[in-house]
Amino acid sequence: MNKDQKNRAELNILGTYKRLPVEFSHGKNVFLYDTDGKEYLDLGGGIAVNALGHAHPEVIEALQTQAKKFCHVSNQYYTEPQITLAEKINQHMKHSGKVFFCNSGAEANECMIKLARKHGNIHAKQNIITAKNSFHGRTFGGMSATGQDKIKDGFTPLLDSFYHIPYNSIEALDSHINEKTAALIIEGIQGEGGVIPATPEFLLHARKLCTKYNALLCIDAVQCGFFRSGTFQSYTKILSDTHFSFKPDAVAHAKSLGGGFPIGAVWISDAYKDVLSYGNHGSTYGGNPLACAVSGKIFEIIERDNIQDQITHSGSYLLENLSTLKNKYPHVIKDIRGLGLMIGIELQNISIPDTYTDLSVASYTTLKALEDHQLTLIPSGTHVLRILPAYTITKSDLDLGLEKLERLLKQL
Ligand SMILES: *Cc1c(COP(=O)(O)O)cnc(C)c1O
Repeated sequence: MNKDQKNRAELNILGTYKRLPVEFSHGKNVFLYDTDGKEYLDLGGGIAVNALGHAHPEVIEALQTQAKKFCHVSNQYYTEPQITLAEKINQHMKHSGKVFFCNSGAEANECMIKLARKHGNIHAKQNIITAKNSFHGRTFGGMSATGQDKIKDGFTPLLDSFYHIPYNSIEALDSHINEKTAALIIEGIQGEGGVIPATPEFLLHARKLCTKYNALLCIDAVQCGFFRSGTFQSYTKILSDTHFSFKPDAVAHAKSLGGGFPIGAVWISDAYKDVLSYGNHGSTYGGNPLACAVSGKIFEIIERDNIQDQITHSGSYLLENLSTLKNKYPHVIKDIRGLGLMIGIELQNISIPDTYTDLSVASYTTLKALEDHQLTLIPSGTHVLRILPAYTITKSDLDLGLEKLERLLKQL
């Protein structure tokens, strides 16, 4: 990319991100194009956002059609796209509940945290348990819930009464949950924590104990939800081999829900639908017609084209082929895991050339994938690469991705 542009960015944009040296100009399906016209295979999907890839014609049409009517009216009024989207979320949750709309993942978690606090205040309790290595966003509520010190460093005092236990530890949950617990908030599959799915035993035990102690069981499905795992919610996939059903009390959605248009949504089960009542919460943009029209269209396409099954098949195909690569390159790959199109490649502690020693193994590999193989990946922690492509990725594009990955592995 051109140097002048990099300088202009650095002069004018706050330095909260370390950017890779590429400027993209446009995309089509699972491909991105840079300003030099080079084509990249997008397996990062904008960090689990681009559910139907780039520039999907029907999504563009839904956006344009709604934009010609209006982009925004306030939540003082009713609008059809918001009602339709809430209905669809409710249908797919398979339990009756109500939806609150916002604009991002962190905001969706803020709503769940407010729900937990209000529930706690009603019942004279305030503790919120979350998992170590979790990620729940960059707001004060999100940071307080997040179980990673590097996210919180420099921002104390955070919110009170958050406790972090090892993810999937039944013993830790047993020893921390009690009458003072207002809520447990966990990801169905930890994303930033390295693509770690919840275990069926942990989910079922958490449900049992939350019910026993009148604590809300809240799922942060911002990354793993909205079909990413192959089912609407990842816990359905995780529990599919058991005969147990599972009903959370609240679920936060964002990322893929808007396919690139900012939107967040929290589903709250009927039992707690009156905890946040008139005047307790709000958002100017939340559930605006443009965002809801786009999200509603994505929902419709996923249902119509049976894309859930496609996600499951593509995910199994990737896992199988990545396991073959793991066996072929055991000195580079330590583990392969994930569900549907949320897959993690854990790398060994490979050595990095001297010029890159400020980068983690995952960041270095992501840079090499981009520069040498025209492939986007998302690092997670220090050693995990994430694959989070569009749900509609074809078998031949998966094969192209596997080819590019193998060339990358050979180089490491
Ligand atoms: C990305 C993410 C968030 C934060 O979402 P934003 O839209 O960036 O605010 C919260 N929780 C999880 C699990 C995420 O992956």
